Amino acid sequence: MANSEDQRRLAPVAGAPDVGGADCVGCGRCCHHPPQTVHLLDGDEARMGPEVLRRLTVLQDKPPFMRFMGNGGSRCSALDVSVPGQYPCLIYSVRGDDCRVVEPGSPACLEARVLGHLGASMEYQRRL
Ligand code: SF4
Ligand code: SF4
Repeated sequence: MANSEDQRRLAPVAGAPDVGGADCVGCGRCCHHPPQTVHLLDGDEARMGPEVLRRLTVLQDKPPFMRFMGNGGSRCSALDVSVPGQYPCLIYSVRGDDCRVVEPGSPACLEARVLGHLGASMEYQRRL
């Protein structure tokens, strides 16, 4: 049986993406990652609002009570996978700051495209 990394790995995507994001819906590699990857802070929660928080995020049930995007094990719960080969974000306009760090063409983006999922690039760091 495939291990969890294999399950979240898609095929690599060749070449550099459009820096304006035109290739993102057809890629979606950076939205594939394990649970508790996309951490949400107060500003993210305020932007998302209670309905998105209720449907698509999880709050730890013990200290430090951190909130994360939901994740079934291999990808973010806000990723719409209803159309094969298409990976639109259901909450793109209100996505968290963690997601905004991974800009098209950034080191973390290029790494994700090579790996087929979000990697451990040092560029994937929230700038506090
Ligand atoms: S890995 Fe890059 S091109 Fe692919 S969805 Fe993420 S930001 Fe867009
Ligand atoms: S919130 Fe949207 S952009 Fe962020 S990981 Fe989830 S699907 Fe991707």
